[in-house]
Amino acid sequence: MTEPVAQPDELARIADALEVTKRRAYQLAVALIVLVVGFNFATRESGDVVLTYVYPVGAALLLAALPLMRGRRVPLRVIEWGLLGVGASVVLVGLVDLLFVAEPFAEQLLGLTGAQYWAMNLLMLFGFVMFDRQPGLRFGVAVLGVSLLLAVVALGLQRTAGTLTTQMVVYLVRVHVFMAMLLVVVYLVAGLREQLHRAIERVELLRTRALTDPLTGLANRYATEERLQAEAREALRRARPLAVALLDIDHFKQVNDELGHDVGDQVLSATARLLRTCLRGRDLAARWGGEEFLVVLPETSLEQARVIAERCRRTIAAGRPGNRSLTVTVGVAQLQLDEEPGSLIRRADMALYEGKRTGRDRVVAAPPSVSALPA
Ligand code: GH3
Ligand code: MG
Ligand code: MG
Repeated sequence: MTEPVAQPDELARIADALEVTKRRAYQLAVALIVLVVGFNFATRESGDVVLTYVYPVGAALLLAALPLMRGRRVPLRVIEWGLLGVGASVVLVGLVDLLFVAEPFAEQLLGLTGAQYWAMNLLMLFGFVMFDRQPGLRFGVAVLGVSLLLAVVALGLQRTAGTLTTQMVVYLVRVHVFMAMLLVVVYLVAGLREQLHRAIERVELLRTRALTDPLTGLANRYATEERLQAEAREALRRARPLAVALLDIDHFKQVNDELGHDVGDQVLSATARLLRTCLRGRDLAARWGGEEFLVVLPETSLEQARVIAERCRRTIAAGRPGNRSLTVTVGVAQLQLDEEPGSLIRRADMALYEGKRTGRDRVVAAPPSVSALPA
């Protein structure tokens, strides 16, 4: 019962760490892109408009943006859209060049070989989809290694045949640098994804903890108040009945006094288990206080609530939670027109008190009113 319930600080920390990793990943990606573009620029053929002008301009823009990625001055969203914008523009201009300007035959040839390497890239990406991050990386490195080996063998054969050109060497080196870069970027993205998964799991856990009573596993008071508010709104809107039952264990102090607090706890959770067995799917059972339980009963009139409460009272008595004879007293009440949930609970509490006063081990219904919602 000592677990802290909500930890918003921790969520903020996870979000922070995620943002820092993202910024680092983008910075690294830009550095790699600039490196590759520089390499391509140095080894380009004369007259290659894309490698001479388009890529370097794109790279220069990214390089200029590099200092903006540090710190928090520029929001991450802006950086992401900027990267996407520059990348898309460069690719589109390259495509226009390929379709309308470049020498058809040479480009077609390169495009054909390139397609094979795109397939290799896809294979590496597939590795990250199939496996976790580390095996994905190993798989990618293996693919890259095999590809490099094949390239070296191919170049060796060309050399023996005397047909080796610098263009071939440059092309293959370029392609493999690109593959390596893609591998690094995907590895980083996979890391982000893992971080995100952990964060989501953590949020789920915190949410469950924030809404659940740890001893009995029932909804806690906070969750029940929310649910009761919602059910009351719905009942009034649709003119449907809504009832609650408030249960209090009789003479529970005696259990604690005679058997100790730990046994008292066991009796409480055993009682909660019994309570759950006698409810319907939509009913919500909650630990309302120390040894008090609240049951929210949607679509239930006062008379039906009384019947259900009676069933619960008998089930708990017959179930002998913690191997003790134990009884409960229950107060039930039905929501009235224009009634607040707080008032509904107060009336159930008054009925419960009446039950205690008149001898315990019984169900007492709060007096119905002319303005109660219909059954
Ligand atoms: P009655 O309701 O029939 O009038 O008598 P009671 O003995 O149950 O009286 P009361 O409701 O006033 O006392 C409730 C007791 O429940 C007091 C407290 O020590 C005990 N209690 C409350 N929360 C817990 C808990 O989490 N674990 C245990 N073991 N005991 C609890
Ligand atoms: Mg009590
Ligand atoms: Mg009690």
